[in-house]
Amino acid sequence: MAEEKAAVGTNFIHAKIEKDLEEGKYGDKVLTRFPPEPNGYLHIGHAKSICLNFTTAIRYNGACNLRYDDTNPVKEDMEYVDSIENDVRWLGFEWKERLWASDYFDEMYECAVTLIRKGLAFVCDLSGEQIRQYRGTLTEPGKESPYRGRSVEENLRLFEEMREGKCADGEKVLRAKIDMASPNINMRDPVIYRIAHAEHHNTGDKWCIYPMYDFAHPIEDAIEGITHSICTLEFEDHRPLYDWVLQAVGKWPTPPQQIEFARLNLTNTVMSKRLLKKMVDEGDVDGWDDPRMPTIAGIRRRGYTPEAVRDFCERIGVAKANSTVDIGLLEACVRDDLKTKVRNRNVVENPIKVIITNYPEGQTEDMEVENNREVPEMGNRTIPFSRELWVDGDDFMEVPAKKYFRLFPGNEVRFKGAYFITCNEVVKNEDGSVKELLCTYDPETKSGTEGANRKVKGTIHWVDTATAVKIRIRNYDYLMVEDENGELVMNPDSLTETIGYAEPLLAEAEGGDRFQFFRKGYYMADSELTTDEEKVFNRIVGLKSSFKVKK
Ligand code: ATP
Ligand code: MG
Repeated sequence: MAEEKAAVGTNFIHAKIEKDLEEGKYGDKVLTRFPPEPNGYLHIGHAKSICLNFTTAIRYNGACNLRYDDTNPVKEDMEYVDSIENDVRWLGFEWKERLWASDYFDEMYECAVTLIRKGLAFVCDLSGEQIRQYRGTLTEPGKESPYRGRSVEENLRLFEEMREGKCADGEKVLRAKIDMASPNINMRDPVIYRIAHAEHHNTGDKWCIYPMYDFAHPIEDAIEGITHSICTLEFEDHRPLYDWVLQAVGKWPTPPQQIEFARLNLTNTVMSKRLLKKMVDEGDVDGWDDPRMPTIAGIRRRGYTPEAVRDFCERIGVAKANSTVDIGLLEACVRDDLKTKVRNRNVVENPIKVIITNYPEGQTEDMEVENNREVPEMGNRTIPFSRELWVDGDDFMEVPAKKYFRLFPGNEVRFKGAYFITCNEVVKNEDGSVKELLCTYDPETKSGTEGANRKVKGTIHWVDTATAVKIRIRNYDYLMVEDENGELVMNPDSLTETIGYAEPLLAEAEGGDRFQFFRKGYYMADSELTTDEEKVFNRIVGLKSSFKVKK
């Protein structure tokens, strides 16, 4: 378990647990679980569930299990299992036990037999379509199945035959016998076991009947001794069935209880493993860990930190009503976390050459520049300054827009950590594009000296052309954007690559190193693409949007 306690401040789930602790419902025990189906990579929505389950447990000196919800007979994919464990640990949590729901198949089967013996379950021969027709609607009660009156003996025999493989898929099901007139449709004799002649990764061909989620989940929770089974709001109407199953089986004197919270929805974000898998399979993205993906693997590769994700989950809190959170909040959490953690580096894109005509040819000065203004302990680095520099394409306008204080002919700006520089002349190429800017520096304004206190409106960054390191920068925009109907569609411009010129220190960057590119944003050297020869950076997140000029 992570060391720290969950932040103070309480929510309705904590309130419920505190009440149970006060009444001693489960003694002083709090045991939660995170129950992923191993059929894809986890996304940021799962992170909310993980944070909630683990921090709640930590808060009450309890524990949280990791349980694979593998009651569907599909091929296990070890890739998914490994990724899930990696992601939970990356978020900073450690489970008490790692369990597989399929290990409980024998016990679940026994529970079903118990229900039959108690006259609380029956084998039904209606087809799926007929069961739907019999179920009724929100305003009309359902109709009882003609097989509802089967005797206990007949039901036991038929269920046994189902188990032995004597029936085809869909030929029969086992249903709970509850109430076809219940206002809650989930209680109208729900199916609890179905036939599926399919191989299961864990149990092989031992079973050809498999429990339905609503029957399996409460039993899984009860077997493990879960106290509070936290799930998303869609299951609220299933709670009466959750309670019914545990009560009807009757094996557990103090059964677990289900508590629902609103799932996380984020703007510009697809939050469904199924749809994310489709994008991966169809090659729309570069794998599950594509830095544009909302998967935990994706945001990790992009450069988000676990601290930022946990802070985000804390800030959004838990609610009882569905809503959509602005992805800007997640980005703000990332900025807040990185602000005091990473060093600044000068990087320019779309470079424009600056010649300081009154600076001695062949001379280089090592300028001392702070690594992070907010964290003096990070000290300074030196950046070479010389007669020929690169500045960022965004920091020059031949004809300045209103309130543009950066370089333009006749204007003086501060070159961060160096001197005040005045742009005197624009030299053009034959095609009319800017070749270079002829500038002069004021020797009295060296950074750190008295002269540098003179007021000047613009401050820009720069790199020395002779020592600059060429880097590749991957700029990410949202993977999904809204079309005119408000539907999320793929953004064709979600990835653009640029070449940057960086101060020499970036030549030493290794995959996973994060920096603030001064005045630009936060970037991380991509762990897979970065080599000794070429540094490739992912833009994690931009700085808070400042004044942007349209050219
Ligand atoms: P998906 O629809 O993306 O496949 P899922 O709910 O089917 O999600 P599971 O593997 O079954 O995926 O989910 C594991 C746990 O994560 C469940 O307890 C589920 O409630 C929770 N969870 C999934 N998506 C979200 C979300 N967007 N917000 C909060 N919790 C979520
Ligand atoms: Mg699911």
